[in-house]
Amino acid sequence: MRNTKQRKIVLDIINNSYSHPTAYQVHQECIKVMPNISLGTVYRNLNTLVSLGEIQRLDIPNQMTRYDKVLSHDHFICINCGNVYDLKRSDITYKDMIDGNKVLSCKINYEGVCGGCLNKSEGDDINGIKGK
Ligand SMILES: [Zn+2]
Ligand SMILES: [Zn+2]
Repeated sequence: MRNTKQRKIVLDIINNSYSHPTAYQVHQECIKVMPNISLGTVYRNLNTLVSLGEIQRLDIPNQMTRYDKVLSHDHFICINCGNVYDLKRSDITYKDMIDGNKVLSCKINYEGVCGGCLNKSEGDDINGIKGK
């Protein structure tokens, strides 16, 4: 019973967040409602929720694992500050079948420099843009 409650709290945090939190950040949110919950417990619940398909794990190169809701959307990842932004699916036509194969899901990550970083660095070079 207690486990179910913890899992629900973790799930709610992920579903209500747009920041793609790391396990550590999820833990910070959890202790606001459940002060005794340990980071290990949060990890365990995140793993359970991933295996149940209720949330998804985002593995972004050079970053700690983040967690996200499963509702279909694409991501824009800023190569400068590392923020992950949700994008609505609008630009691309998704297909159910490709060459006789049934498509179950499709993940697209756009990479670039976010508006915030662009504004901050007018005129400056941003590390990593060149040569990519
Ligand atoms: Zn940025
Ligand atoms: Zn997302």
